[in-house]
Amino acid sequence: MAKAKRLSGGCQCGAVRYSIPTPTEGVHLCHCRMCQKAVGNVFAALAPVPLKTVRWTRGKPKYFRSSTDVDRGYCPKCGTPLTFRYRDGQRINFTIGSLDDPEAVTPTIHYGTESRVTWLRLSDRWPHEPTDVKALKKRFPKFKSFQHPDRDTKRWP
Ligand SMILES: [Zn+2]
Ligand SMILES: [Zn+2]
Repeated sequence: MAKAKRLSGGCQCGAVRYSIPTPTEGVHLCHCRMCQKAVGNVFAALAPVPLKTVRWTRGKPKYFRSSTDVDRGYCPKCGTPLTFRYRDGQRINFTIGSLDDPEAVTPTIHYGTESRVTWLRLSDRWPHEPTDVKALKKRFPKFKSFQHPDRDTKRWP
């Protein structure tokens, strides 16, 4: 088998650049409320690769811990969302839009569909899976979100 081609990508300003192997499985769109906020859009397009295969070729992301169990990487200079990772996981997801060639990968499933905006009409036939809250609670018994609530607050956190 030919060695999988590596893909390059990076943030909008170019301060952070990376090289990853071509993601082969688990490429997805996540419509969950956390991903919506994290990318400032109505879903996140994400492609996972093994953590140890990642090479940061220029600069390094900063991480926002969006919950007890998740780190989200972004460029400290321009803010482009770059990664999503469960802190106990051996995989790290890269935002497909930050790839130099977003056509290099194709999602196969929708996750977090409980928060999918109703006006978004998608003609693909990929399966839709809501967030499996039960499974998450089992995997992360002490899970706590650090995301600001969907309303104004006087003080946060
Ligand atoms: Zn940047
Ligand atoms: Zn999500």
